[in-house]
Amino acid sequence: MRTVELPEESDTLEFGRRLGAVLRAGDLLLLDGPLGAGKTVLTRGVAAGMGVTGRITSPTFVIARVHRPDGDGPALVHVDAYRLGGLDEIDDLDLDTDLTDAAVVVEWGEGLADQLSDTHLMVRLRRREDDVRELTLEPHGEGWTERLGELTG
Ligand code: ADP
Ligand code: MG
Repeated sequence: MRTVELPEESDTLEFGRRLGAVLRAGDLLLLDGPLGAGKTVLTRGVAAGMGVTGRITSPTFVIARVHRPDGDGPALVHVDAYRLGGLDEIDDLDLDTDLTDAAVVVEWGEGLADQLSDTHLMVRLRRREDDVRELTLEPHGEGWTERLGELTG
């Protein structure tokens, strides 16, 4: 487990960018934290790191959006789990991509953790009283620990 302090929005974007740059098809990121913690801002950075240039907004009213990078690389599937009963419902959304070809980022993902494959990265965000965001990374399953070493090392 590893905690990072993110004083400014630009720090969250930059951290997301670095995270996005190491993502691969089939990766699953679960973002946990209250409203306003910075989950969508972080996802914006992840998208930038993946080469996605389109606008990233909160997917609350659409449940999920698919963003494709300009160049090669996996698509980003940005999910809002708030209204999602279970992760299997993602299959019913008729997304225009195969999830195994995409990196999936789930806001409010904590509640889904027990339904998921063992391999995912749990990212917890919290807003401190001084407004600094604290981000904690919890790798679950094969491979994530090594990859996080490159990221936070
Ligand atoms: P969530 O998706 O978790 O509900 P958002 O990312 O939509 O939260 O909103 C975070 C809000 O907090 C934004 O308005 C952003 O400008 C502000 N903010 C201030 N400082 C930070 C920071 N260090 N990291 C992320 N967001 C920040
Ligand atoms: Mg959000």
